[in-house]
Amino acid sequence: MAKEIKTKNPYTNKTIETYRYFTSEEVSEILLQADKTFQIWKIKPISTRTDLIEKVADNLCDNREHFAALISKEMGKPITESLAEIDKCIFLCDFYAKNSEALLADALIETDAQESFISYDPLGVILAIMPWNFPFWQVLRFAIPTLTAGNTVILKHASNVTGCALAIQEIFENVGYPMGCFTTVLADHNTVEELIKNDLVKAVSLTGSEKAGKKVGEIAGSQLKKLVLELGGNNACIVLNDADLDTHIDTMVKARMLNTGQSCIAAKRFIVEAGIYEQFLEQFTEKVANLRSGDPLEEDSQIGTLARPDLADILEEQVKISIEKGANIHYGNERNQAYYQPTIITEVTTDMPVFTEETFGPVAAIIKVDDKEEAYKLASQTSFGLGTMIFTADVEDAKKHIIHIEDGAFFINEMVKSDPRLPFGGTKNSGYGRELSKEGLLAFTNKKTVYIK
Ligand code: NAP
Repeated sequence: MAKEIKTKNPYTNKTIETYRYFTSEEVSEILLQADKTFQIWKIKPISTRTDLIEKVADNLCDNREHFAALISKEMGKPITESLAEIDKCIFLCDFYAKNSEALLADALIETDAQESFISYDPLGVILAIMPWNFPFWQVLRFAIPTLTAGNTVILKHASNVTGCALAIQEIFENVGYPMGCFTTVLADHNTVEELIKNDLVKAVSLTGSEKAGKKVGEIAGSQLKKLVLELGGNNACIVLNDADLDTHIDTMVKARMLNTGQSCIAAKRFIVEAGIYEQFLEQFTEKVANLRSGDPLEEDSQIGTLARPDLADILEEQVKISIEKGANIHYGNERNQAYYQPTIITEVTTDMPVFTEETFGPVAAIIKVDDKEEAYKLASQTSFGLGTMIFTADVEDAKKHIIHIEDGAFFINEMVKSDPRLPFGGTKNSGYGRELSKEGLLAFTNKKTVYIK
């Protein structure tokens, strides 16, 4: 008997829907269709593909409230943030609708040939394995450029956002993408492994935890398949003595608390110079204490629940061990099922889980340092490499550190955030490869050298 997926509203704890996993025959058929469609899709003019992106944007616009509510119900995100997620997807569509044709054009290179150039050819069927934290954004930021480059896509979404996964497939179908361009499979990990190993799957893109990245990387590696890995993060937010707190404190709070703390690029460790520490802590705490927790579907909620109660278990354990090692709960730390109160932890040292591990929830670890050098040193003391942010009046000095930041991003006087126009990705245990911008469009292409004598 086929196994089931039950989606649950983490706020009400009620089952939303029950789905059955696809049989292996159904998955095989989907894969065959995706490959068949690829043969037609890859020779369509790029303008046909970009016209369809515009229709995706229109569909998102028309169904904005409906999709946002679906996100909030399935994973507990405050509704205003779900609406913002849909808006960001529309912005992504606009960017690729306008720019893909130019970005995918043959790149002429002068040599001794009569003509030589790079042709950006699609690879074929690409498997996407995606997380629940931004259930529309994560999928679309991968799928729009990947499809537009001429590939077809099979999506294995996180099980707890299966409704979103099916809704996204419906968008592509409704706006006129040929059947097989974008298909969702409801599959367990073993089926995913079989898919990765199948010759028809040419490459894999995984956004998720380090653990999933290692497992999927191992399988894809054994098949020598191209892989993009967007994994966890443990970003530092450095606050130097000369930081303008009045201007930036809201950004700093948002950097940690957006999406109820469940963002890979969230500021997880606040590394604060001694001279501004007390003032920072006071202003930060006041703002955090004013955040309204509540029903994710209500417009004035700023903090929802975590996406599942077991995620709150993990966070609670990380905090508990940190307290045992000497950390101090400065604010918060109440927990009720999937709800975790915004929490501020001080007296944090480098051996505590809230420093060494990714905390995926609204928990801010605050570390006091003597000077700027120590701040930079601690910021980079992590196995992850998604991004670092710094708040300082001395931008020129911060710029001197660009070369020393090993991460995929360095933001000065702004929180680390993604933007369709800029590449996005990590180093170290945060993965490899880049999404968004031209990089994302070319990620799953064969950069073919063409030489005509
Ligand atoms: P997860 O547990 O790793 O799951 C991510 C996806 O991988 C899900 O679809 C999951 O399916 C699948 N998966 C997990 N193990 C697998 C395996 N052995 N074989 C095949 N598929 C497997 O991560 P999550 O809890 O959904 O997401 C949170 C993590 O994602 C955090 O670490 C966060 O930092 C990271 N993230 C990174 C980025 C980035 O851009 N770098 C962006 C967002 C999130 P099931 O649901 O069926 O288990």
